[in-house]
Formats: sequence, C-alpha cells, structure tokens
Amino acid sequence: MHIRDIFKQNPTTFSFEFFPPKTHEAAELLYQSIKKLEPLKPAFVSVTYGAGGSTREMTHEVVLRLKTTTTLDPVAHLTAVCHSEQDICGILQRYAKAGISNILALAGDLPHDMPCYDRSQDAFRYATDLVNYIHQFNDQKLHPDHRGFGIGVAGFPEGHPDTPNRVTDMTHLKQKVDAGADYICTQMFFDNRDFYDFCQRCELIDINVPIVAGIMPILSAASMKRIPQMALGMRYPAKLLRKLLKYQDDDQNIRKIGIDWATQQCHDLLDNHVRGIHFYTLNRAMATVEIYRRLGAADSSELAELSE
Ligand SMILES: Cc1cc2nc3c(=O)[nH]c(=O)nc-3n(C[C@H](O)[C@H](O)[C@H](O)COP(=O)(O)OP(=O)(O)OC[C@H]3O[C@@H](n4cnc5c(N)ncnc54)[C@H](O)[C@@H]3O)c2cc1C
Repeated sequence: MHIRDIFKQNPTTFSFEFFPPKTHEAAELLYQSIKKLEPLKPAFVSVTYGAGGSTREMTHEVVLRLKTTTTLDPVAHLTAVCHSEQDICGILQRYAKAGISNILALAGDLPHDMPCYDRSQDAFRYATDLVNYIHQFNDQKLHPDHRGFGIGVAGFPEGHPDTPNRVTDMTHLKQKVDAGADYICTQMFFDNRDFYDFCQRCELIDINVPIVAGIMPILSAASMKRIPQMALGMRYPAKLLRKLLKYQDDDQNIRKIGIDWATQQCHDLLDNHVRGIHFYTLNRAMATVEIYRRLGAADSSELAELSE
C-alpha cells in the first residue's frame, strides 16, 4: 500500500526493520522472527540495503519474500552510494514490476572495505538526488500505482555526523523533504527530548510530513558498544548510562535495562501522540514482542489505542 494511504489509515503507525541475512542460519533466524512478529500487525516493515553486492541482492529477495509469503507490507531501502543511474533504474523497475509500494531513499555510507572509493563516480551524491530521481521514475508511469513509489527519508534527531552545523543539517533535511518525501524515519535515539525537539525544529521550518521515531532496545553488552558505531552521533543519556555501567558485561541485566528503557520511551512517545514508532529489530522478535506485552497490547491496533 502506498505510504500515504498507510498514514491515512493509521493515526499511529508501528513498523519493524530487518536487515538482509548473510548466511543460511541467519536467514532461518530472520524468517522465524518474522513469523513471531507478523501477529503484531505492523503498518509496514522495512528491509535495509547493504554495502556489498550479495547483500544488495538479498535485500531484493527478502522484500519480495515478505510481499509474496506474508501479510506484511515491505518498504525497500535503497542507497545512492556505489550506484550508477542505470543500476538504480534497474532496481526501481524490478520493484515496480513486483508491486512494491514504497522506497526509503538514502545516501548510504561508504563500505568499510572501500575507504578510498571516489563518490564522484556515483550518479547521486545525496538522498535528495535519489528522491528527485525516484520522482522522475514515477512520472514514467511504470508502477502499478499511478502515483508511483511512496518515498521515505532518514532524519537524525541528534544531527548527522557529516554536517557539524546542525542548522545547515536541518536545511538539507528540508530540501530532501521538499524534493518529495512522504515521511521521515529517524535514527535511533535514547532520549525522547531529542526527538521532540527535532519534531519542533522540523515544524518551525515547515516540514510537515509524518515523522516516525526509531527505537532500538539495547540487548547485550556487545550491542551497547555496537549501537554508537552503527548510529554515529547518537548518545546514551547519563541516566541510562549510569544503569548500564553498573552491570558492565552482565548481558542478562543489560537486556532487562535495555527493554525497560525502550518500553518507557514508547510509553512516553505514545502519551505525546507520536505519529509512528519504528522498531529496529536486528532480525529478532523477542524484544519487540516483549515491549508490546509490557505495554499491554496484543497487536499494533491495541498499541495505537494507548495514544488516543
Ligand atoms: C532510518 C534509517 C535507515 C537507514 N538505512 C540504511 C540502509 O538501509 N543502508 C545503509 O547503507 N545505510 C542506512 N542508513 C544510514 C544512512 O545511509 C547514513 O547515515 C548516511 O550517512 C546518511 O544517509 P541520508 O540518506 O540521511 O543522507 P543525506 O540526506 O544525503 O545526508 C547525508 C549528509 O549530507 C548532508 N547533505 C545533504 N544534502 C547536502 C548538500 N546538498 N550539500 C552538502 N551536504 C548535504 C546532510 O546534512 C548529512 O550530513 C539509515 C539511516 C537511517 C536513519
């Protein structure tokens, strides 16, 4: 379903993010998790787009499998980095043919193993350029929906690390939305005040599309260390850090704190009528299922009622 229709039908959306698995075992784990998450009836799910060739194909495979074998509505992530216009056009054509409704358009980061890659070879430098191109593609009417693809973009409540000037960073976000994005999904954050302030700053510069809050529970000592590498620029608020540091490498307690914290964040977001919550699942079901259970909701429509 086109993302504009999804937002029209759901005053509060709940969505889940997966990444393309690299091995057979990882694929098994992903599809088991999907089975457990499906009954929560998210408004949509999304599949990230990797840096390397094989994971890129795997994104396509997972998106199509979700579309054809589950009740879930997949949003395909697409990044500009290391792609020619012909590549991007081919990917869009395949998704259009398969009836995939929505794309999350991203610049993407350089693959770790290609630090010297010259980005001037890429057809599109910034996500805005990719959004513009998807609109041109939509104008060709190759998509079964006459509007073409719905388009999402990324937002960074704590700022994006490549642009230390936070005011300029917001100007870039505004350009990206004005290019024709239908919604913003945010980077994970651990202090809701950063999200609320981000939403208000968006409002002040006339960004009026739905903003979906990215939530990621910390589930182990290793993930606590990995998250800041995945989400450059983010911080753990002192109150959370104090709790986490008390347990150092005690995964069981760190997991408990992580899920408690994410549950409280969701509770507060719902109290404040958030437009949507996007759970970074890391291809696991347990934490998201647990958060729904703790909030007393059997599925997403019950969770939405908490925000009314
Ligand atoms: C919800 C979400 C999902 C993600 N999914 C993926 C994924 O699937 N695969 C993946 O590889 N990465 C993913 N990322 C990471 C993302 O690709 C990187 O953080 C990337 O560095 C920024 O992407 P962007 O689309 O926000 O880029 P942009 O919007 O292009 O912004 C990147 C930087 O460039 C600056 N900028 C923008 N326009 C201009 C301009 N005209 N002139 C100068 N500077 C400019 C911005 O201020 C910002 O600092 C995701 C991030 C989020 C928040």
